[in-house]
Amino acid sequence: MNESLVGQVDYQPPSGSGSQNLKEFRSAGRGFWSHIPDADWNDWRWQMKNRITKLDQLLKYLPTLTPEEYSGTLLANTKLAMGITPYFFNLIDPSDENCPIRRQVIPRIEETNTAAWEMSDPCGEDSHSPVEGLVHRYPDRVLFLVTDRCASYCRYCTRSRLVSNATGYDFHPEYDKQIAYIAAHPEIRDVLLSGGDPLLLSDEKLENLLSRLRAIPHVEFLRIGTRIPIFLPQRITPELTAMLRKFHPLFMSVHSNHPRELTTEVRDALGRLADAGIPLGNQSVLLKDVNDTPEVMKAHVQKLLMCRVKPYYIYQCDLISGSAHLRASVRQGLEIMEQLRGHTTGYGVPQYVIDAPGGGGKVPINPDYILKRDGERIIIRNFEGQVFEYPEAPDGSPEVSSPRFDVAVEGR
Ligand SMILES: *Cc1c(COP(=O)(O)O)cnc(C)c1O
Ligand code: SF4
Repeated sequence: MNESLVGQVDYQPPSGSGSQNLKEFRSAGRGFWSHIPDADWNDWRWQMKNRITKLDQLLKYLPTLTPEEYSGTLLANTKLAMGITPYFFNLIDPSDENCPIRRQVIPRIEETNTAAWEMSDPCGEDSHSPVEGLVHRYPDRVLFLVTDRCASYCRYCTRSRLVSNATGYDFHPEYDKQIAYIAAHPEIRDVLLSGGDPLLLSDEKLENLLSRLRAIPHVEFLRIGTRIPIFLPQRITPELTAMLRKFHPLFMSVHSNHPRELTTEVRDALGRLADAGIPLGNQSVLLKDVNDTPEVMKAHVQKLLMCRVKPYYIYQCDLISGSAHLRASVRQGLEIMEQLRGHTTGYGVPQYVIDAPGGGGKVPINPDYILKRDGERIIIRNFEGQVFEYPEAPDGSPEVSSPRFDVAVEGR
């Protein structure tokens, strides 16, 4: 932070953006940074250098900081660093303590509460890691962690054990070893780059990594998981998209949780990616008082479609230590799915999943549409609650070839 600029702050932030029409596209604006030259503001490296990372900066820009946020920010660097790009900071409604943007990036003291069932590695990634920074959980694909840095830090991050290095995890992926593992395993046809945020690498580094992966004959499909288009749309430069398009088929999964994150800047950045032929999906995390109502989620998925993004997953919030204040219930998740399917464009309906605690992978969670099924017929209900019967075609046993499972989980 350039301290000499802090003294110049005389901007009065607007209030009441919480009453904004959820589907309206707005610019995040310049906020406290109106005196910064456009060339700097639009430069992603300037945005990174000027992130809000300290309590005194927060107090300056957000005088309505609550006691919970104040103490949370003091302690943040022992759990998960605070970091907010000026661009994203401008989306915070300072007059609303429960602003959905604010809850995602400003630490709160509740992060120091840990329930018995919470974990530092809730998806058991470290136990499925043959090489540091590579998670091989599913037969034909791997998660390739390339960095521990993000443009801003999400307070519920499932990888907060390593992301931002606040707990001293000291994540040092060795690309050579990760790539050697992939090259030695011909069953891996899909590589998902994530982190941390892969788009924080320079164009050169990222290009080098993608080229090396593309050179492995059995790697068919590449994808990048990133929140950069949302936190730092300035990073999506024409040079970046020109480089990425050389690696097709390359998909991208972005991470947006609330319709207010979809600004005109974000829409334009996503448009540049889509124009480069990159199919875009979105992953949302179901968060308490952020996006845990059908109204907000429906507006969000519809707005994503307007940005040419297919809603891909809604995640039940993982059992990450200190996230209880951000976790919504599975009941609410099911309610949201009930209100999406049939009620809006099918392309707009994501799959709701729970990443099974301890490392079972993603499990789809759906409202029950099958009321009864046997060898003769299936009884189903639709989104309006009407019941229908479909006669089963005779093909022998009514059993589906699912894996055997043991239901002896009572008393957990
Ligand atoms: C989510 C995830 C993937 C990708 O899963 P898809 O359902 O194919 O999107 C791969 N590996 C790990 C460890 C994951 O958590
Ligand atoms: S962008 Fe992703 S990896 Fe980074 S803090 Fe947010 S959830 Fe975690």
